[in-house]
Amino acid sequence: MLSFDPDQIILPPGHYINGKHRAGAGQGFQVNRPSDGKAAGQLFEADNALVDEAVTLADRAVKQSGWAACPPRQRGEVMRRWADLILADRVNLGRLEALGSTRPIHDVVQHEIPFTAEAIRFYAECADKYSGDVLPTRDGSLGMLLPEPYGVIGAITPWNFPLSMASWKCGPALAAGNAVVLKPSELTPYSTVRLAELALEAGLPPGVLNIVQGGGAVTGAALVAHPLVRKVSFTGSTRTGAHIMSNAAFNGMKPVTLELGGKSPQLVFDDAGDIDEVAGRILRGFTANGGQACVAGTRLIVQRGIAAALIDKLVLLCQGFRPGVTWDENSRYSPLIDARQAARVAQVVAAATQRSGEILTGGSLFDATGQGYFWRPTLLANVGPDSPAVLEEIFGPVLTVQLFDDEDQGLALAAHPTYGLCAGVHTKNIDRALRAMRAVAAGTVWINRYGRSGDFIIPTGGFQGSGIGKDLGRQAFESCRRYKSVLIDY
Ligand code: NAD
Repeated sequence: MLSFDPDQIILPPGHYINGKHRAGAGQGFQVNRPSDGKAAGQLFEADNALVDEAVTLADRAVKQSGWAACPPRQRGEVMRRWADLILADRVNLGRLEALGSTRPIHDVVQHEIPFTAEAIRFYAECADKYSGDVLPTRDGSLGMLLPEPYGVIGAITPWNFPLSMASWKCGPALAAGNAVVLKPSELTPYSTVRLAELALEAGLPPGVLNIVQGGGAVTGAALVAHPLVRKVSFTGSTRTGAHIMSNAAFNGMKPVTLELGGKSPQLVFDDAGDIDEVAGRILRGFTANGGQACVAGTRLIVQRGIAAALIDKLVLLCQGFRPGVTWDENSRYSPLIDARQAARVAQVVAAATQRSGEILTGGSLFDATGQGYFWRPTLLANVGPDSPAVLEEIFGPVLTVQLFDDEDQGLALAAHPTYGLCAGVHTKNIDRALRAMRAVAAGTVWINRYGRSGDFIIPTGGFQGSGIGKDLGRQAFESCRRYKSVLIDY
């Protein structure tokens, strides 16, 4: 029985610093439940002084506890135990996630928590697998490249997949021997604290993983600028990423990993194969988590011959969704995070229809259920390449539809002037698939599928305005270490 009463859930008090809960500090802020808009709780923003305390204690902990210096295998063992505890706690942890985010409890327990545990396990395995190098020098001295942890890594995550995002940041950073101070989104602060409690239970030394709560302007900015934070790993919007990059540059020239926004194309050719199967991929690509996924495939670019049949099928499928609170185990469809996000989706859809845009289905919230902001899956046709609905990340379940005749036209429409996160290519013609794979400027290309598989060996990260660096894969682990060059005469 996964359904639960949200009023019966006891929420963690706030920050988690040096292995202890901390309640107060700074400005108060209210956290709402996206499913019904009611207040979940009240937290206090970590101010400069509290961020300073968290980072200073993290720096001390990573040095004094031996986490940085211990045999890497030992770190792996702690992290494997952590992954086991995450799985064992899946119902309790899942309820914190479902109550405070847009993720239905069924999805959280079936997918998000197993993926969170698997990400931690993947990096536990990395901990002792990748060493440095011994280099042949011209003068016979011994040349070495020694990987070292940075010390304290500042991590900042968005609200759309709170647990996964935390695991993608903490996994590689901790496995490489760093401490982490993580600031979750102020909209979804709770589940990450439980994740940190479980890490301590698994044997992570107190202070090596800390959570500070608060908004970006105060807590986030203080974390990025802190002199003892040596690297920043961020996932969120492109605009915030630019602020963070500049703040990190002016406060110690820190390296940054930035996983940012997207506006990914779904390029469907006439020879894509079974319509029902293709429609299912397109549908999941733009409706998962109510369209609130950086990788959402929100631009359907479809060849004319298959367009009518595909669109008819999509319209039918879109009309099958039903809203339901995230704490009901039968709910499968996510609400938008809050009223602001609902207004944003409404504004972009209205702007599109004021031009030439035509709503084929959806276009509004579900009828007043009195429960959160559930937006109907929306298909928007007759949109030009310069329409804001085509150019801007909406972060809602809205799919624009554009038609093309030949491959060059399709590829031209798929190109985006600023974003380059993902692309879907659907064709049974291998030559065409490979040409498209080469042509699209995107950090990830999915051919005849759309979406990750929970396999963490494949990194993810955007081109252009979609980001810098990679999360996941060995690449993320390497990005949490710096290399020292050593020459020894003997
Ligand atoms: P956001 O940029 O508004 O906020 C993200 C985080 O940054 C939050 O924790 C916020 O408090 C913090 N923040 C805001 N301003 C800050 C500042 N000046 N300094 C430091 N921290 C600051 O993004 P969001 O609305 O929470 O999330 C949605 C965005 O995240 C979308 O653009 C989405 O595409 C992107 N995203 C990207 C990926 C990826 O892997 N590329 C994954 C998930 C989400």
